[in-house]
Amino acid sequence: MPSLADHAKSYLNLTLSDRQIEQFEQLTDTLLEWNQRMNLTAIKDRDEIMIKHHLDSLTLLKVLFEFDDLKLIDVGTGAGFPGLALAITFPKLHVTFLDSTGKKLKFIDHAGEALKLDNIETVHARAEDAGRNPNHRESYDIVTARAVARMPALMEYTLPLCKLEGQVIAMKGGTAYDETNSAAKAISELGGELFSIEEINLPTIENPRYLVTVDKIDPTPKQYPRNAGIPTREPIQ
Ligand code: SAM
Repeated sequence: MPSLADHAKSYLNLTLSDRQIEQFEQLTDTLLEWNQRMNLTAIKDRDEIMIKHHLDSLTLLKVLFEFDDLKLIDVGTGAGFPGLALAITFPKLHVTFLDSTGKKLKFIDHAGEALKLDNIETVHARAEDAGRNPNHRESYDIVTARAVARMPALMEYTLPLCKLEGQVIAMKGGTAYDETNSAAKAISELGGELFSIEEINLPTIENPRYLVTVDKIDPTPKQYPRNAGIPTREPIQ
């Protein structure tokens, strides 16, 4: 069976160093170990974790081409997907992991220490609160989110955190086009512009996935994000 390194090379033209391969192995060990105590992932098989978590995270390389000295925030990161794979692969990328669930962030802090990653930090907050906090608002070159919320609410979570001329990448399944259509108003109201929807076909996985890229072209108006909970209850539509 091809390894993560083989897939990264053939599918993404990415060469992982021996140290990075070791870090991905160590991350998988740590994830499986912690998963016995807390619910971090439903995927229990090592090879499946390599594809469905690590390689899937790295598919962002299909739409992002610059990482060095940039700031990325992974919103609703859970156990660190897609952020951890990027932090391992790009040591000069600074990655902030944001989640409203503190115990998952403890896993990321622990994994970061075990893997000796010095380019990561965790923030325990709701995206709506972080988006109004001057320490985070319009502070990130790249904002990522996988499996967090439907596009209209997700845009209100992510676009306020994104710098002007930065990009938001939403990692989506089969509903990508419908969700993106329903988010047209939210995208423009929050200062974004849809750039592309890229289809991704991972080895051994039947259904395509999609990367929705939204450029930040205007500042987000001050009234956004609204208070925690409102973006999902009353999405901009
Ligand atoms: N991105 C990870 C992945 O793909 O495996 C985790 C996905 S998990 C289904 C969704 C995560 O988003 C949860 O950890 C949840 O706590 C977080 N989340 C949902 N809404 C949030 C919000 N408004 N602010 C911060 N985190 C949020």
